[in-house]
Amino acid sequence: MLFARPFVFVKGCVRIADLPPMDRTEIAFAGRSNVGKSSLINALVGMKDLARTSNTPGRTQELNIFEAADAELRIVDMPGYGFAQAPKPKVEAWTRLIHQYLTGRATLRRVYVLIDGRHGPRGNDVSVMNELDKAAVSYQAVLTKADKPSEKELQSAIADTLRAIAKRPAAHPDLIVTSSEKGTGIPDLRAAIAHLLAH
Ligand code: GDP
Repeated sequence: MLFARPFVFVKGCVRIADLPPMDRTEIAFAGRSNVGKSSLINALVGMKDLARTSNTPGRTQELNIFEAADAELRIVDMPGYGFAQAPKPKVEAWTRLIHQYLTGRATLRRVYVLIDGRHGPRGNDVSVMNELDKAAVSYQAVLTKADKPSEKELQSAIADTLRAIAKRPAAHPDLIVTSSEKGTGIPDLRAAIAHLLAH
């Protein structure tokens, strides 16, 4: 089983030349800080602390690479993507790196765009989706923290998100609703990734 093997942090990449060879299928995770991305990656691989690395100072503007031995999957965490709060030259370098990565990485199969389940897509989430559409990179929206809102609020966030992805050329039409805390939706996310690898 894909996520039975332990994933490890391999490296943080600040330029394209740092990236590992394109020798396996990649999925990437994007989402503003505090959306619950580290928690989701940890829940996905069934490890407690793996993705905390991405939130440590200095690693928020890197492409952080996670791999498991002999696994045909590589996980790429893009912590600051679309949401960088840093000095301008740093943001420009990061934006350039992301652009090069998204447009030049043949092994990148899908970007999971994390959206806060408490309120649905915000401006920055929309910017990220615009860029992915422009780069023609396949992506899927994932709602996080679904245990937090009331049922009514959650349904409204789901409806808003579905409305935001409708008619977007590179967006997967389905939404995955998750709670890393409760484990909700994690099997669905794993199944979606396994499906990617099988096709
Ligand atoms: P990141 O900055 O996107 O990597 O976010 P983190 O994974 O570090 O999570 C940010 C905060 O949200 C932390 O306090 C987490 O405990 C909390 N959090 C993350 N996922 C969930 C969830 O599914 N449910 C709840 N209730 N809280 C969550």
